[in-house]
Amino acid sequence: MNLFSLIRGRIASPQKAFIRTPAGAVLTYADMLARTAQLADTLVRAGVQPGDRVAVQVEKTPENFLLYLATLRAGAVYLPLNTAYTLAELDYFIGDAEPALVVCDPAKRAGIGEIAARRGVRAVETLDAAGRGSLSEAAAGAPAGFADVARTHEDLAAILYTSGTTGRSKGAMLTHRNLSSNAETLREYWRFTANDVLLHALPIYHTHGLFVAGNTVMLAGGAMIFLPKFDADEVMRLLPQATSMMGVPTFYTRLLRHPGLTRQACAHMRLFTSGSAPLLAETHTEFREKTGHAILERYGMTETNMNTSNPYDGERVAGTVGFALPGVDVRIADPETGRVLAQGEVGGIEVRGPNVFPGYWRMPEKTKAEFRADGFFITGDVGKIDARGYVHIVGRAKDLIITGGFNVYPKEIESEIDALPGVVESAVIGCPHPDFGEGVTAVVVCKPGAALSEKAVIAELERRLARFKLPKRVLFVDDLPRNTMGKVQKNVLREQNARLYG
Ligand code: AMP
Repeated sequence: MNLFSLIRGRIASPQKAFIRTPAGAVLTYADMLARTAQLADTLVRAGVQPGDRVAVQVEKTPENFLLYLATLRAGAVYLPLNTAYTLAELDYFIGDAEPALVVCDPAKRAGIGEIAARRGVRAVETLDAAGRGSLSEAAAGAPAGFADVARTHEDLAAILYTSGTTGRSKGAMLTHRNLSSNAETLREYWRFTANDVLLHALPIYHTHGLFVAGNTVMLAGGAMIFLPKFDADEVMRLLPQATSMMGVPTFYTRLLRHPGLTRQACAHMRLFTSGSAPLLAETHTEFREKTGHAILERYGMTETNMNTSNPYDGERVAGTVGFALPGVDVRIADPETGRVLAQGEVGGIEVRGPNVFPGYWRMPEKTKAEFRADGFFITGDVGKIDARGYVHIVGRAKDLIITGGFNVYPKEIESEIDALPGVVESAVIGCPHPDFGEGVTAVVVCKPGAALSEKAVIAELERRLARFKLPKRVLFVDDLPRNTMGKVQKNVLREQNARLYG
């Protein structure tokens, strides 16, 4: 079934708010139905057929979100692109995905037009940061009724390119079933209803903002306040109008620095969730002490949607990502052999369920290599499941450091460093080393005024860690490099320190 039919079926009342802007403008569900019909009609007139890709690189606006829904209605495949991508990067995505239509910011029209012409794309339309452009102009004159194109569960609804920190970015294909099943599960698990108003400050070119937030709220018939981007002042100003917020860890560390964040300011809130990157246990604890809210941390990825979540009612354990979601199988296996490991052992996290994607766009070999014969997807994350069933993430398999033949999990060292007085956070990486293959290297952010030295950190760690795990160097920086989803870019740190050991 077309995900849009499911969304349409949950509209509690057409006059109910669907999206509100920070300035107070309200788009109702009736407006959404009319405008997505016009946009879907415009897509079809531009030559978009069922199964065609619609590539979109535009700023976050309600119109952009409506374009996602219109693409579903037209039976086409929505392909959002990070607004930071350059023309050279777009050339790869457009060449790989072969969209029927590209929608871009007017400022990029000329550059993308050239790529589109060279790549045989039939149409290019524009949408700007105010939601205006050739696409909305064309849609304004279209009829407000549209017969939604029927789709099966297995048909593609979207392709999201992974951020690709190693090798080429891969297009994760997501079916209508993948998206609808996960959104239904999250709606129930996190108790979203038509009374919810989600403060939406995430980007919508990524699974978190687009699907976890967008689809879950729509399947509950709820509303969203759309912030163009995260801004702590704006979040605090709009919080009184919201019931819930989904964020990446950096949202919470920034809010903790905001003087307005008090128990009273959050008293009316129902839920704060975090994901896309690890939430420091310290952040969880500080937020709870300050606001009375235990941030609910969950774990997922572009390819799988959400896999695990801390409970709504039960204990939300800091530093864990909670239990496997209903209908999702999670197991820990030996990364080499695929042998399932005993409870408590650390290994590769593998998942199976209706949430898991069918594969990478036009990469059958890569797809095959990342699935086990029994259908489990090899996430590339390393973790364990504790005696109570809570999943712990230890890191990414590719971040594993092999030094002098020993395996070192960076998370273990990072946790020890983070616990030292004066430390804000740390990232531990392996850098090429002439003797050891890789040298364990710690990059540390200190609190203002902390007088920590390389020697002092190593001396502290010596008392806690086996010798082979000790950092050979400790470097101090003001901030760790992060992408827009708050993930620490270890590849950047590795590149910066490629010659540290000569
Ligand atoms: P993306 O496909 O951009 O959503 O990235 C997915 C990756 O983010 C996962 O494979 C994990 O490595 C990481 N991730 C997501 N949620 C969490 C979390 N709660 N804690 C730690 N890592 C996470």
